[in-house]
Amino acid sequence: MGKGPRITRVEVHEFRFEREDIARTEEGGVVYAPGARSERTAYALRIVTDTGPVGEYVGGSAADYATLPTFVDYLIGHDALQRELIYARVGHATRMNRIGLAPVDIALWDLAGKHHDAPIHQLLGGYKETLPTYVATLHGEDGVTGGLDSPDAYADFAEQCLDMGYPGFKIHGWANGMVPREIETVHSVADRVGGRMDMMLDPFNALVTFGDAVKLGRACDEAGYFWYEDPFLDMGTSMFAHRKLRQLIETPLLISEHIRGVEPHVDFMVAEATDFIRGDVAYEGITGVMKVAHAAEGLGMDIELHSPGPAQRQCAAAIRNTNYYELSGSHPRARNQNYAPVYKDDYRDELDAADENGCFPVPRGPGLGVEYDWDLIARRRTGLEAYS
Ligand SMILES: [Mg+2]
Repeated sequence: MGKGPRITRVEVHEFRFEREDIARTEEGGVVYAPGARSERTAYALRIVTDTGPVGEYVGGSAADYATLPTFVDYLIGHDALQRELIYARVGHATRMNRIGLAPVDIALWDLAGKHHDAPIHQLLGGYKETLPTYVATLHGEDGVTGGLDSPDAYADFAEQCLDMGYPGFKIHGWANGMVPREIETVHSVADRVGGRMDMMLDPFNALVTFGDAVKLGRACDEAGYFWYEDPFLDMGTSMFAHRKLRQLIETPLLISEHIRGVEPHVDFMVAEATDFIRGDVAYEGITGVMKVAHAAEGLGMDIELHSPGPAQRQCAAAIRNTNYYELSGSHPRARNQNYAPVYKDDYRDELDAADENGCFPVPRGPGLGVEYDWDLIARRRTGLEAYS
C-alpha cells in the first residue's frame, strides 16, 4: 500500500440539463432541430480522501456507473495516488470492455493534480500550451432547416470556420447512409476550402456496406481529404476489413474509436488496419489514452483524441504525436450542447472560444484545471449514490 491520501468516499451525482434546438434522429444522429426541447442526463463523480484533496470529473454514462458497485470496495481505503495499480485492478474487475474504468481514472488524475498542485499535463510531461483544433459538425438535417441541410450548407459552414481561423473541418454527414449525397458533400466542401484547411470525413459507421465505404473513400481521394474515419457498419472493429480498405483507397484512415484498451489498439496498428490511431479519454481514462499514445509513438504513428473536454485537453497538451483537438458537436446555428454546461470558470467548448488561429487553451489550474459548479449540479440533481 502506498502512502498517499486514502480514498474514504466515492459519490456519483446524477443530474439533468436542458437542450434547445437539438434532437436525436431515428438512426441515432444528433441534429439541429429549431424549436425542439429535451433533457439529457449527465453524471458527476467525486472521490474524497482522508487528507483533503477531492478528485472530480463530470462525464461518463449510466453504463459506466453501473459497474462501480462491483469494484468500489477496492477503492475505499486505497492510496488515491496509485493510479497505475488502480487502473490494472479496476481494469481486471471491469474486463468486459473495461466499462466504468475511465471516470474513476480521470477523477484520480484530477485528485493527483490537486495533491501536487499541478495541472495534469504537467504531471504527464508538458509538450504544448495551445491546441490546434478542427471543427466537427453535428449530423446533417433532412428537410430545409437553414442549418446543415445540404452539401452546400456544409461548404458554407466550413468556410465560416476557415474565416474564424480554424485549421481543420470534419464532416459528420447524414445518419441514413446515402452515399451519393455524402459524395456530393465531400466535393462541395473541398471545392470551397480545399488546400486552405485540413478536411476530414466521419460517416460515424452509418454506411451500410464495405462497397459504400470504398465509393466514399474514393471521393475523399479525389478531393484530398486528410483522414477518413469510421466509415461503415462493422462499427470500426474489423482489422481485416480496414486493411483491405487501405489497399483500395489512398486517404489515410482513422479507425479504432470503438475498441478499448492498449492491446487491441496496438493490434490495430500492427495489422496495418489504420493510419492514425484513435484515443478516447472517456473510454480509456487518461492512463489508458497515454498508453495508446506512447505505443503509437513507438510505431512512429500519431494518435488523434476523440471529442472535447478538460481531460482531453490535458492529455493532448502532453502528447507530441498528435495533430488536433476535436471540437465535435458544432453547428452554425446551435450552441454546442453535447456537453453539460457545468463550469464556474470560463472553460468552454464552443465555436467562438478558440483564438484567432483556431487553437484552444490548456487549463493551467491544478488537476483538470476547471472549476465545476456544484451548486448548479445540486440544483439539477436527480440521484446521488455514495459509497464509503
Ligand atoms: Mg468519430
